Amino acid sequence: SPGLYIVATPIGNLGDITFRAVEVLRGVDAVACEDTRVTGKLLHHLGLKKKLIRYDDHAGEGDRERLLALMESQPVALVSDAGTPLISDPGYRLVRTARERGIVVTSVPGPNAAVVAMTLSGLPNDRFLFAGFLPNKSKAREDMLSELAGVPATLVFYETAPRLDAALQAIDTVLPGREVAVARELTKKFEECRSGTPEELAAHYTAHPPKGEIVLLVAPPSDEPVADIDVDALLLRELS
Ligand code: SAM
Repeated sequence: SPGLYIVATPIGNLGDITFRAVEVLRGVDAVACEDTRVTGKLLHHLGLKKKLIRYDDHAGEGDRERLLALMESQPVALVSDAGTPLISDPGYRLVRTARERGIVVTSVPGPNAAVVAMTLSGLPNDRFLFAGFLPNKSKAREDMLSELAGVPATLVFYETAPRLDAALQAIDTVLPGREVAVARELTKKFEECRSGTPEELAAHYTAHPPKGEIVLLVAPPSDEPVADIDVDALLLRELS
């Protein structure tokens, strides 16, 4: 039936496409995507051929209106290059406007790099804050980290290999002493999740320059630094 189907796709391992994603992609005539070559390849792998409509970060009002008009009369799938659409990927305005106009919006869930990294990292997962990409400029990057310093949750950032070192340095400066995890090549052959201090990780990745896409995680601030606990006072309280 007509509407917008938000379809998650693999983040590296084609085996992670869901049965429902395949079923929905098979059922639609049109697929809105960031890059027609990337999505064309995925559809080819699934044995499907569909009308591809480019919808990326540069999409304007006109592109959006054309898609909205289409989904009023037929089902339209929205995919991104990898993972879950809208999560650091295009689609927010499209979904918002579709909902305002009473168009049915449904989600076909699947892979998401932030969640995969969170589950692998060994960091506390009762609360986590997904913060997207850190800014490019160093002042803005440090400001964002300062803003997040007191949040009692594991922080999750998207990163790229060339920016990893700058991000680790900034964390070392603004959030000293925090445990950090670097998750790379998730769901792929050389998947890796490495934890340590920002300094240790910076040293490792200077010696072994990383490739590919990266999720960076930062442990929450500890409630009470161990060194600040007055052991004598605790003992006296117990004895009295
Ligand atoms: N929508 C995607 C999702 O659901 O994960 C994220 C898209 S965002 C433009 C791309 C970023 O996601 C990368 O820079 C990286 O931080 C992260 N990412 C995507 N695939 C990854 C993978 N296989 N391993 C590690 N990080 C990945």
